Amino acid sequence: MWRLQDDAERATGVDACPAGWPRPQHDGLPLPWITPVLDGVAYWAQIHGGRLLACQREWLCQVCGLGLPAQVLVLADTDGELVTDAGLHRGCALLSLTVCEGLSPRLLLAEVTRADLRHKGHPLTERPEAGWQRWELAPQVRASAPRVGTPAAARLLEPHRHPSPAAPAPTPAHRPHAVKEPPMIRRSEQRAADHAHYARRVVRALAPHFDDLTDPTTAATVERSITAYLAEPFDGWEVILDSPSLANWRLKPDTGHRIRVACTRMPPRTPDAVQEQRDLERERALTALVQEQAS
Ligand SMILES: [Zn+2]
Repeated sequence: MWRLQDDAERATGVDACPAGWPRPQHDGLPLPWITPVLDGVAYWAQIHGGRLLACQREWLCQVCGLGLPAQVLVLADTDGELVTDAGLHRGCALLSLTVCEGLSPRLLLAEVTRADLRHKGHPLTERPEAGWQRWELAPQVRASAPRVGTPAAARLLEPHRHPSPAAPAPTPAHRPHAVKEPPMIRRSEQRAADHAHYARRVVRALAPHFDDLTDPTTAATVERSITAYLAEPFDGWEVILDSPSLANWRLKPDTGHRIRVACTRMPPRTPDAVQEQRDLERERALTALVQEQAS
């Protein structure tokens, strides 16, 4: 999808979501640099893979797309996994926490350098990677990182901590009202965080059963699709779990806004009762696995 955005940008010479401040607005919200935009529509549940890769390789901010100082802020879940695998300026983290649903006290805010981040438990290499990586906090950093909404996290977001001009100053329109107080935690934010957490657990549980989910880009796309569905369930929702060329297995809505695993294999010309039975059993087992993650 984001490749289409790049194609459109090349064709028209217009960047629909340029780097810098203030951020362009979509749906009344400031748009992060790594959110894909196509034909005037912002795809909030997705990520511009090319730009996230650039953020990682060139140490750019995921919100404004500008260069970062050595020390940056990151948001991670309580397992230490980054919510989005790139750093943020202080002002940009503040903006995200102020406007983004889903950023909640379940999350950790950490001030890190590259050396504090890990990929699959290993320090980040300087060697350019072909695709973007999942990042997590080093164990000692995770252990000391405060939760979002606590006074310690609010202190990390205080402007005077970084008198250096490296971080861009938020424009007055973006300056949140409650810098001195810990951000108000709204119920909807809590719910969105629960959805994101559940989506992550579902993808982790299904990854051993679907090779494609071991690819970080695919895993992130599926996670975001689940999160978006749970926020606004609709009957026609589905997301493919195996390769798009097969598309034999998908997540679909279940009763009570739950999700289930469905086999959508084209029936063979000659009915195959054994295969049908096997698919049915796999559907049930994987659905049970997915729904267990909700507890
Ligand atoms: Zn920034």
